[in-house]
Amino acid sequence: MIAYQDTHCHLNLNQFDHDLEQVIQRAQQQGVDRILVPGIDLETSRRAVAICEKYDIAFAAVGVHPNNASLWDAGSIEKLRVLCRHPKVVAIGEIGLDYYRNYAEPALQKKILAAQMELAKEISKPLIVHNRNALHDLMPILAKWVKTLRVSGNILAEKPGVLHAFDGDLETAYKAIELGFYVGVAGPVTFSNAKDRHTTTQAIPLTSMIAETDAPYLAPHPFRGKRNEPAWVSLVVQKIAMLKELPLERTITTLTNNGNHLFEWRSAD
Ligand SMILES: [Zn+2]
Repeated sequence: MIAYQDTHCHLNLNQFDHDLEQVIQRAQQQGVDRILVPGIDLETSRRAVAICEKYDIAFAAVGVHPNNASLWDAGSIEKLRVLCRHPKVVAIGEIGLDYYRNYAEPALQKKILAAQMELAKEISKPLIVHNRNALHDLMPILAKWVKTLRVSGNILAEKPGVLHAFDGDLETAYKAIELGFYVGVAGPVTFSNAKDRHTTTQAIPLTSMIAETDAPYLAPHPFRGKRNEPAWVSLVVQKIAMLKELPLERTITTLTNNGNHLFEWRSAD
């Protein structure tokens, strides 16, 4: 059976407090059988783990988002390491750099990013990378890290992670793919005026993409502006198929294979 995967969905945020059950049901009715819930701080990382204990369909990533860098302290890395022992924690994230909000100094953002990348390397779990206006700093950091993975023969060297909700240019997308990263495609690709995203999605190989909602944010057309939810990952995937002029079924299968390869999530049933 073919099924959709939502590789980035914040079911652990308050926006889903009152109807999580129904949100998950609607996703299942739409044919979604994997939802990856990333943390943005320790509290939401723990909630992600709790959600995946309750629902077969859910898997977790744990990490501290750059916008929450000021919450980081000397004990944070050990707390993350402990959470990572849970069998349904399949990635470290979301982590990265955010120079748009700039809630924390770039130096502090880089410090906690480096610490979490080190943890990912140690336990061989891929990264879920957040970027906002920071690719110029981020790409060299990722390139250097991948180099160390290659030198040490780490299994992550061939699949270091995903640049989630990617909004960079084509050149940067190629660079990321060359490093082994997947490119995360989210709701904005469905907007008719998102010409750059259409061009990028058409140009890069489907074998280097995964689909996501980034719910509750980035709702796809025709739900733009509403609270996003995992059922709507189907709209993202349909748009990818359309842009690449591929049959929907083949598109879903390839994206699913990519997600399985990156996250190695065990069967949900
Ligand atoms: Zn996110």
